[in-house]
Amino acid sequence: MSQYDSLSTERMWQEKWKEWEIYRFDKESERPIYSIDNPPRYTSGSLHLGHATGYSLIDFAARYRRMKGYNVFYPLCFDVNGTPTEVKVEKKYGITKLDLPRTEYRKLCSEYANGFIDEMTHHFEILGQSMDPSIYYQTDAPYYRRITQISFLRLLKMGLAYKGDYPVNWCPRCMTALADAEVEYRDNVTDLNYIRFPLADGEGDVIIATTRPELICTCQTVAVHPEDKDKKGFVGKELITPLYGKKVKIIADPKVDPDYGTGVVMICTIGDKVDLEWVMKYNLPLEKGIDECGHMTPIAGPYEGMKVKEAREAIIRDLKEKGYLIKQEKQKQNVSVCWRCHENIEFLQVPQWFLKTLDFKERVLKRADEVNWFPEFMKIRLRDWVESLEWDWVLSRQRIFATPIPIWECENCGEVVPAEEEQCYVDPTEDDPPVDSCPRCGGNLKGCEDVFDTWMDSSASSLYNCFWERDEVMFKKMFPMSLRPQSHDIIRTWAFYTLLRSEQLTGSIPWRDIMVHGFIMAPDGTPMHSSLGNVIDPLPIIEEYGADALRYYACTCSLGVDHAFREKDVIRGRRFSNKIFNMGNFVGSKVNRKPQRPNNLSAADKWILSRYSEVVKHVDKLFQEYQFDKAMREIESFSWHEFADHYIEMVKHRDDEAARWTLYNVYLGIIKVLAPLMPHVTEDSYQRHFRDQEGDLSIHISSWPEPFEVDKRAIEVGKILKEVISGVRTWKANKRIALNQELASLEIIGTVASLLNGLEKDIMETIKAKEVRIVPSAELEERVVAIKPLHSKIGPQFKEDAKKIIEALGNINPSELYKALSKGPVEIIDGMFLNEEHIEFVKKLMLHGREVETVQIGELLLAIER
Ligand SMILES: [Zn+2]
Ligand SMILES: [Zn+2]
Repeated sequence: MSQYDSLSTERMWQEKWKEWEIYRFDKESERPIYSIDNPPRYTSGSLHLGHATGYSLIDFAARYRRMKGYNVFYPLCFDVNGTPTEVKVEKKYGITKLDLPRTEYRKLCSEYANGFIDEMTHHFEILGQSMDPSIYYQTDAPYYRRITQISFLRLLKMGLAYKGDYPVNWCPRCMTALADAEVEYRDNVTDLNYIRFPLADGEGDVIIATTRPELICTCQTVAVHPEDKDKKGFVGKELITPLYGKKVKIIADPKVDPDYGTGVVMICTIGDKVDLEWVMKYNLPLEKGIDECGHMTPIAGPYEGMKVKEAREAIIRDLKEKGYLIKQEKQKQNVSVCWRCHENIEFLQVPQWFLKTLDFKERVLKRADEVNWFPEFMKIRLRDWVESLEWDWVLSRQRIFATPIPIWECENCGEVVPAEEEQCYVDPTEDDPPVDSCPRCGGNLKGCEDVFDTWMDSSASSLYNCFWERDEVMFKKMFPMSLRPQSHDIIRTWAFYTLLRSEQLTGSIPWRDIMVHGFIMAPDGTPMHSSLGNVIDPLPIIEEYGADALRYYACTCSLGVDHAFREKDVIRGRRFSNKIFNMGNFVGSKVNRKPQRPNNLSAADKWILSRYSEVVKHVDKLFQEYQFDKAMREIESFSWHEFADHYIEMVKHRDDEAARWTLYNVYLGIIKVLAPLMPHVTEDSYQRHFRDQEGDLSIHISSWPEPFEVDKRAIEVGKILKEVISGVRTWKANKRIALNQELASLEIIGTVASLLNGLEKDIMETIKAKEVRIVPSAELEERVVAIKPLHSKIGPQFKEDAKKIIEALGNINPSELYKALSKGPVEIIDGMFLNEEHIEFVKKLMLHGREVETVQIGELLLAIER
C-alpha cells in the first residue's frame, strides 16, 4: 500500500485549477444558474478553523451544483470596511479618529485591510475552494459602494429612510451610534447607591437607590408605583437633588418596580430605554449629561470633562462627604457593551439616519417563510429577533472607514440635498453637491460626514451579485439568488437586513435557500478565543493531513449547531483519502482502457452496482438538502465497507470484462460523488485513471453520475454474502488466525444459502478457503474426544485414592464414558463411582468425518474446517 502525498498533490491540482479556470461563471451561458450569496470574508488576516469549516460547507454546495450541470456563481469576495479595522488601526498607530484628517485616517485603514487580501486569497486556494475570481468584489470598492448608496437614495425617495433626533445606543470609545444588533450584554457587579434626597418642604427625606449617581445632574423627576402604600403619600411633593439643589416633582407611574431598591426611581435623560419612555410620556426636557466621547457635559457642574467612571467615583465621594450617601450594596447587572470594543454603551441623543424597520416586521417574517431554511429550526432565531425589535434601524455611524451617506445638508436651514444616482459612488466630504446652494434658502451646503452601518453594505450583497443597477437582464435572470450561506450569529443582522431591504427595494425574497452553520469550538467545547490561548490554527493541520482531511472534518459538522473540534476526525479523513487513493491504484491496475458493457454480470457485480446506485440516488438528495454530514457517512461507508472490503476482495482473482466494467463504473462514480467534499484526492485519481477514457478536463466539471438499475434480489444476495464474509473474518480474528491464512473448507448451511449459488469461487477467493460448499442442511455430528477429570471435585472426595482414579480415567474411551455417565454413576475402580459432576468432556463437531468449527449468522450456519 502506498501513501498518498497530500501536500504536493493538493498544491499541484490547485495550480491546475487556476490555470484551467474551471470555476468560471459564464454570463452568456443558457444553463440554469445556481448563485451563492457568498459571505465576503472580513479582512482581518488569520484564517480560523471556523472560517475553514464554514467556507468548506459552501464549497460542497458549489461543487455539487457545478457537477449537476448548473452555471455556478460563487464569487471570491472580501469585506473591507468598518469599525473592526478602525479599532485595529487605532491600536496599531495609537490614534483616535480625531487625530488625523479623514482622508489620511481612511488611507491607513484601507492599506491595513487591503494588505491581507493576497494572503487570504491564498488561504482559500489551499482549502481547495472553488470561488470564482472573475466575479471578484470587495465591499470598499467604488463599484460596490455605489450600489449601497443608490439603494439608500431609493429608500430615501420612498420615505423609508429618514433623519431622526432620538436617543440611540452610543459607543463612547468608537464615538458612533450603534444598532440594537450591535449591542452585546455582559454580566457585571456594580454598587447600588442609596442616596438621600431631601423633601423641598423640609419635612424629611426620600431615599433613592441608583447605580448611576453621576446622572443626578440630569434628574428630571422622581417616580413611585401608584399602588405603593408607603410611598403614595409623597406623590405631588417636590424633592431637592443632592449637590445640584434642583427641585424635582414626585410622580406615580405603573412602570416603577416597587421591589427594586427603595421603590423610588430617579428619571434622568437619558440613562436607559425605560428613562426614554418616561421622557417621551411626560414630555421632559432632553438634557445631555454625557457627550459623544463619554465625557460629562457642563450640566454635570464640577464633574464636567470627566469620563463617566471617574465622575461616578467622584460624585460618590462627594455624596458621602456631605452625608447624602446612606449605604452601598453590591449588585449584579447586565450591562450593554459595544460589540467590537466592549466599552459600556451610553444612551445618547445625536441626530441619526434611520431605516423604517418596525413597519416591516410582518412582511419580513412572511418573506422568511418563503425561504427554505436549512436547518428549519434556525428560522425561529429570526422570528424571535424580529418580534423583539423596538426601534427602527440606525443607519448612520459617526465613523470614517465605510461607505459615505450620499447627502449634503444646508448649514443654514438644515435642508437635505441627496446625491443624484448618476453621481454615485460619491463622497460628499470631497465631491461637489448636485446643486451649488440650498434650494430652499440659498445657504451653503455641507457634505455629510456620517457613514453607513457596515450591514447597509453587507445587506446589499445579493443585489450587487445579481448585477442590480448594472445589468437589468442579468438581474431578472438571477434574482432571487439560489443560496445564502452564513453562520447563526448573524441571523439578526445579515439575514434580517437582507430580507428587509430586499422586501423594501424589490418586493421579493433575496434568495431561495438559506444554509446556517454553527461555530467551531475548542476540543473541550468552550469557545476559541485568543485570550484563552485555545485557538487552533487550521494551516498546520492542512500541512500535516491535507485540505481534504480538514474538509472531511467540516463534513462532520451538521448544520445549525456548534461543534467541538476533533482532530481524530481529521485523521480519519486523512485515512479515507489514503484509502480512496489506494482503491484508485487497484482499479487502475485492473483496468487500463474503458471497458465494454458486458451482458454476463455476476451476482457480486449486480450486487455492488445496485448498492452503488442506491447510494448515488440517496447522496444526491442529501446534497440538495445540504446534509453533507450524512452524505459523507454514506459515501465512506459504502466505498470502504462494501466496495473495498468486499467487492474488491472478491474480484481480485477475476480477469473478465464484467468485473472490469463494474470496478471502473463504481469507482468512478464514488470519486465523482466524493469530489465536492474531497476535491483533491478525487481529482488526482480521476486524472491518473480516467481522464484519457472520459475526456473531461477535470472531475469537477464532469457530470454527476447516473445510477444504474437497482436489482433488489442482488442486494439481498449481497447482504448475505457480506454477512458470511464478515462472519468468517471475525471468527479468524477471534481465533487469532491471520486473515490471509488459508482454510481447508467452508460449508454454508441453510435454506437461504441457495441465494449464494454461483458465488462459491468469489467467496473462496475472498476468505481464502480451498473449498466452499453451499447446502440447504447438513448433519453435524458431535464427537467426544477427551476426558478432563475435575480435580477439585475428585480430590476432596476420594483423598488418597484420587490419583488411582485419575490414572484409570486415562485408559477409558471418552466417548463410551460419556454415554455411560449420561445414564448414571459409573464404577471406575472397585466400589468407587463417578458421576457427571466429576468430569468434563472435550467435544468436537464433525462434518463428513472431518473436524469443523461453527459460526451462526442469522439463519445460516457456517461450518469451517481449518
Ligand atoms: Zn466601541
Ligand atoms: Zn437652507
